[in-house]
Amino acid sequence: MLFNLNPKTRREDLYDRENELEEIFKALDLKERFIVIYGIRRVGKTSLLRVALREAKIPHAIIDVRKVYFEHRGVSRVHLYREIASYFTKNLDFFNRLGFRIKDLFRRLKGFHVSEIGVEVEPIMQIRFTDLLEKVNDWCERRDLRFALAFDEAQYLRFSGKVRYDGIFAWAIDNLPNITIIVTGSEVELLREFLKTNDPKAPLYGRYMREVYVNRFSRDQSIGFLKQGFRELGINPNIEEIEEAVEVFDGIVGWLTHYGYYRAMKAVNHRTALREVFEKGSQLELTELEKLIAPSRNRYLAILKAVAQGATSWSDIKTYVIVRTGYIDDKTFTQLLKNLVKYGYLVKENNRYKIPDPIVRYLVIEKL
Ligand code: ADP
Ligand code: MG
Repeated sequence: MLFNLNPKTRREDLYDRENELEEIFKALDLKERFIVIYGIRRVGKTSLLRVALREAKIPHAIIDVRKVYFEHRGVSRVHLYREIASYFTKNLDFFNRLGFRIKDLFRRLKGFHVSEIGVEVEPIMQIRFTDLLEKVNDWCERRDLRFALAFDEAQYLRFSGKVRYDGIFAWAIDNLPNITIIVTGSEVELLREFLKTNDPKAPLYGRYMREVYVNRFSRDQSIGFLKQGFRELGINPNIEEIEEAVEVFDGIVGWLTHYGYYRAMKAVNHRTALREVFEKGSQLELTELEKLIAPSRNRYLAILKAVAQGATSWSDIKTYVIVRTGYIDDKTFTQLLKNLVKYGYLVKENNRYKIPDPIVRYLVIEKL
């Protein structure tokens, strides 16, 4: 069902994304070792990743790094191991169906235990990430398999304390032929900064990687998505309403899905559905936004308010910020502005700033 709010796992629930799926299949076929998936929030990266790995029928685990961070205020190795274990537990059927002997795999991994109900992790895990990867690689090599380990929202790995995951990735890419590392990031700039693929002194420099971009839906794709979603549920929608929703949600499939969900599953009228997406959607955005702007909340908010109200140039935004929060020097101001771009709350095009997500714009204007 297209209007299901969870990230999709089945190809028939994933609208389009044929080219993106092909890219990932091709990379896996070619035994490529590193795949990076870029895209803004709620554009469908997690859905693409899940569908691709299940369709490719390769053993894999997906770690939701953002979830780990928000649950534990940090990203420790044990938390990542627990995520891997829980991914196996949740997907036992998938592994069974394909005949993967996960008992056999985990027997080799100290600290992991497999039972009827799933995979568990000992509270104190000594095994290093590199050893874990090496063991998985050996297991796969002997069976001529490929294992994909995906870090969803990998930019949050920067909160992993002393462990340098970019270094671990580089090592795995160089030494483990049967492992493919996949990372996704919705804060595109931040992910690039974390991977440092253009920095000659950084571990990932010069490594080949397959880059997959998940873009907003075009107007036609958005219309097609809503029409198909309604048709699946036997609803014949009003085309003017669809066009308005498509206009408002600007190709962000996550919000289109919410709209379809309220309209079709909750059976509310068009206006109410639009309002609900803005209300509930802005609640969803609030926690993460608050967290990111906390270090300089008033100034960040002033910048966002300025842009939400139509200021687009560096100097207009700065004037607004000074009026609201007092003097700020150019350097600090520019840094704060850059951070908001890095976090994906602003985009800069032709030296003009704007808020790319209509729900975030609403949140800034109405709730903050
Ligand atoms: P991201 O990981 O980029 O934030 P998600 O994969 O979580 O995005 O998707 C956001 C929402 O949109 C979810 O409700 C998901 O079900 C839906 N969705 C994303 N892409 C598609 C698609 N191609 N077809 C149908 N629904 C989708
Ligand atoms: Mg996601």
